[in-house]
Amino acid sequence: MALLQISEPGQSLDPHQRRVAVGIDLGTTHSLVAAVRHGVAECLPAGDGRVILPSVVRYLDPALGGSGRQIGFDALAAQVQDPANTVSSVKRLMGRSRDQVVDVDKLAYTVVEQDGMAVVETVAGRKTPMEVSAEILATLRFRAEDSFDDELYGAVITVPAYFDDAQRQATKDAAQLAGINVLRLINEPTAAAIAYGLDNGSEGVYAIYDLGGGTFDISILRLTRGVFEVMATGGDSALGGDDYDQALAAWVLAQQGVNALLNASERAAVHAEARRLKEALSSSGSETFRASVAGQTFEQSVTPSDFEACTAALTARTMTAVRKVLRDAGITKDEVKGVVMVGGSTRMPVVRRTVGEFFGQEPLTNLNPDEVVALGAAIQANALAGNSKDGDLLLLDVIPLSLGIETMGGLVERIVPRNSSIPTALAQDFTTYQDGQTALALHVVQGERDLVADCRSLARFELRGIPPMVAGAARIRVTFTVDADGLLSVSAKEQGSGVEARVDVKPAYGLSDEQIAAMLQDSFATAQQDMQARALVEARVDADRMIAATRTALAADADLLEADERLNIDTLIESLSQSLGSTEAATIEAATTALAKGTEAFAAMRMNRGIQKALAGKKLEEV
Ligand code: ADP
Ligand code: MG
Repeated sequence: MALLQISEPGQSLDPHQRRVAVGIDLGTTHSLVAAVRHGVAECLPAGDGRVILPSVVRYLDPALGGSGRQIGFDALAAQVQDPANTVSSVKRLMGRSRDQVVDVDKLAYTVVEQDGMAVVETVAGRKTPMEVSAEILATLRFRAEDSFDDELYGAVITVPAYFDDAQRQATKDAAQLAGINVLRLINEPTAAAIAYGLDNGSEGVYAIYDLGGGTFDISILRLTRGVFEVMATGGDSALGGDDYDQALAAWVLAQQGVNALLNASERAAVHAEARRLKEALSSSGSETFRASVAGQTFEQSVTPSDFEACTAALTARTMTAVRKVLRDAGITKDEVKGVVMVGGSTRMPVVRRTVGEFFGQEPLTNLNPDEVVALGAAIQANALAGNSKDGDLLLLDVIPLSLGIETMGGLVERIVPRNSSIPTALAQDFTTYQDGQTALALHVVQGERDLVADCRSLARFELRGIPPMVAGAARIRVTFTVDADGLLSVSAKEQGSGVEARVDVKPAYGLSDEQIAAMLQDSFATAQQDMQARALVEARVDADRMIAATRTALAADADLLEADERLNIDTLIESLSQSLGSTEAATIEAATTALAKGTEAFAAMRMNRGIQKALAGKKLEEV
């Protein structure tokens, strides 16, 4: 099914009014900015033609004057000489306290705790991870504004699928510091899937294998009706291209019989050479490693199979994580419809081959693996800014928790199920409970539980002016409409008279991801209990209805009954009333059934009387 399309009111697609909207991949190692130009997503280059910006910021001693910092390649080049003030991999600190940062002591700069937050100690003072990220984001923002010679309208920024609320909030704060309007944060694997246009393709399960510089992420996404749901994520936050460099360097040094400890600059030089060689080997037959250690210069030739042999354990570790995430998602590898390769390290032929053999299919590699996340974000940004042409489908969010209405007895009737894509509009018909009921109290709730008391109350409103009718005759259509921003409005309309009432509510926004997770957890744990509670409430409502209907009938037509028949019915009503105190739905249901059976004959007599009344005084041909 195609998703509903959004075009913002009054935002027609006059090329002169086009809004500059970009996608930003704020990576651990590299960051990129991309935009849709002439209908095609492309990464925007810096003045020197390079699209990649190393995610590195170097802070300079303020006493020396000058601009105060270097960003990107300049900072990267200075890292060897000034490691203590050169902040790389700052993404690992985002939204974390110091003790939450993996291997924090291995970082070449000093991380301290401040207000529950990991911050970096530099020669220019303490810098929060948001400030450091903001330098990178601002650089990309200026690059985009220079490319388009226009102000930036907004950006879609990508985050790892496993990022929690604090990490996402930190990313948003960084963007705000950089003066960027965040159109949306989207998950990196989802962005990669969008870049490949999978959202326009066939529904099913996709695996996104992302091997970057310092991290490995594997995500299983399920595409339904144009929306991706993250089924499971996994990986290894301390496994990436850097480890391949190290493994190669160690192998070369061992071949050369070097076992002396290297000093910092030798180590940096060997590492840089290893990286150069690794990258070159991805597209060539054999390479020569050149370095000097302790005044001795050496050369070592390395073939692709040497490289594969000395890094085999690393590739194997990624596959262990792949198998685990498939188990977590509860699927087999044969159920995976497509595999998307993301991250610079998936350029290594051995990685592509291993992944391809495991899944039994060629992984998708025709887009640049280090650009694919930014490209997907750009496509999404373009659509959110209202730039995409009519007919373009827009990938949207899903509703995190079900939305529903309170019905008789404090039960929830779910109208919009959880994970429905938005925008959406869904309706259900309800009716009145009492004869002559002229108003209806509507209570809108959110949650997965069956009882209103266990869900979150969103809004209450009333529908008044329903014409008096017998119970059950009114047709009240309740419509839930959720717009693209997740704004919910609920309307209730009595179909016969047309009376209508509505209310606007904002769902989900007040809930943190943890609260959502807790509510879902709750609903799984208590599903059984809920079913029993629901059955009990339903049994009581049915019993009440049965008793009320029988009393009404007796009031009207009791004269049809013999004394013993009347006594029998009264006894059945009495025992049903007593059963209402039971906590067993089955007991109440049995008593309700008994009353229904015991009044069958009475009901038949009443029907006959009704027909006779209707026919009285009419000629046969009039009937
Ligand atoms: P991140 O997402 O962590 O910012 P990237 O996706 O940019 O990282 O990947 C960076 C890694 O990709 C580095 O380890 C780099 O050496 C590696 N890489 C880049 N090009 C190649 C190549 N041609 N062959 C092998 N590895 C490569
Ligand atoms: Mg990345």
